[in-house]
Amino acid sequence: MYRHLLFDLDHTLWDFDRNSNETLTEMHTHFGMGAEVDLQDFIRTFVKVNVSLWEKHNANVIDQHTLRTTRFPLVFEALGVPMPISGEDLSAMYLDLMPRKPHVLPYALELLEYLKPKYTLHIITNGFPEIQDIKLASSNITHYFDLVVTSAVAGYKKPSKEVFDYTLQAIQASPAECLMIGDNWEADIIGGRNAGIDQVYFCPDLPTVLPAPDAHTKTYHIKSLQELMTIL
Ligand SMILES: [Mg+2]
Repeated sequence: MYRHLLFDLDHTLWDFDRNSNETLTEMHTHFGMGAEVDLQDFIRTFVKVNVSLWEKHNANVIDQHTLRTTRFPLVFEALGVPMPISGEDLSAMYLDLMPRKPHVLPYALELLEYLKPKYTLHIITNGFPEIQDIKLASSNITHYFDLVVTSAVAGYKKPSKEVFDYTLQAIQASPAECLMIGDNWEADIIGGRNAGIDQVYFCPDLPTVLPAPDAHTKTYHIKSLQELMTIL
């Protein structure tokens, strides 16, 4: 019954954590930060700051510019050490290196290869278009997708119903013909539900407590991308 599969990109297909951690490791080495900051502390602090800023960005509390310019200053402030170069330059360096990393999540390529002849595949992402295009190309998965919808192009972010409506309009499909696949409960699962689209919640670490009261609203729950091949 599904004809169109709508994939999230970061943490769903593209291995954001691995690619980002590799980049942070290179920056840590490049600036000789080893004496002042433990690498794992640097990575852990970045993840914490970045997740928090992205939640604010998705909720329209901060814009892209604020996310980019405050990210590294907040990390170094939390670590209690001075920045080696300006926050903006650190951000520019990170954004130059990180999207060029090639890693996708386990089974992503097998899955896309399996799905491509059976469905039309698309991306819906809250990431920035100039960055997401590089990620798709670096990981060599651009050719699997008919349409890449970024929030910047649609004018709305997931979980807004509008970004899904924009996509449905662009691909000329009804909600019932689509399935949204993503790792972010709010953006992908609640967002899909708001638009009347079935959802697959990709959560490798089985949550001990699913967010209430919407815990029952997901259509499918997978721990590995491999499981999708048994559903679709
Ligand atoms: Mg995601």
